[in-house]
Formats: sequence, structure tokens, C-alpha cells
Amino acid sequence: MLTCKEQVARSSDFLDGQLTFRERLLVRHHLMFCPNCRRFIRQMRLMQATLKILPEPPIADIDALAERLAAERSRDQ
Ligand SMILES: [Zn+2]
Repeated sequence: MLTCKEQVARSSDFLDGQLTFRERLLVRHHLMFCPNCRRFIRQMRLMQATLKILPEPPIADIDALAERLAAERSRDQ
């Protein structure tokens, strides 16, 4: 099973449909057992949807944002 860190590293590719079949299975498997990562994916999805409707994305560095979300998530634990 993926660690949460590995899961987070794959999140944006997962949402973009860029993962291989095998990796997608790993991610789905992790999400089944990890409510924190499920919430993280939901936040990412929401964020991507928001970025799409904005003419100029306020956050250019998606990796920095992903790190921030991950930090917030671990603070909740
Ligand atoms: Zn996780």
C-alpha cells in the first residue's frame, strides 16, 4: 500500500488521469483506507475546478499548494 506521502505525490496526476492503470489501482486502494487522503483529493479536485473557472489562477505553483494542503491535513490529525 502507498504511504500518504506517496499518495499525495500522485494526487494531481491521478486527478488529471495521467497515472498508469497499476498506479491508479494503488491510489484507489489507498483512498479506500485513508479518509485523510480522500479529503485531500476532494480539496484538490475542488481547487482544480476553481482554477479552471478563474481567468488567471492566483496560485501558479500547484506543487506549493499541494504541500500546503498536505501540511494542513497533517495538522488536523
Ligand atoms: Zn493517506
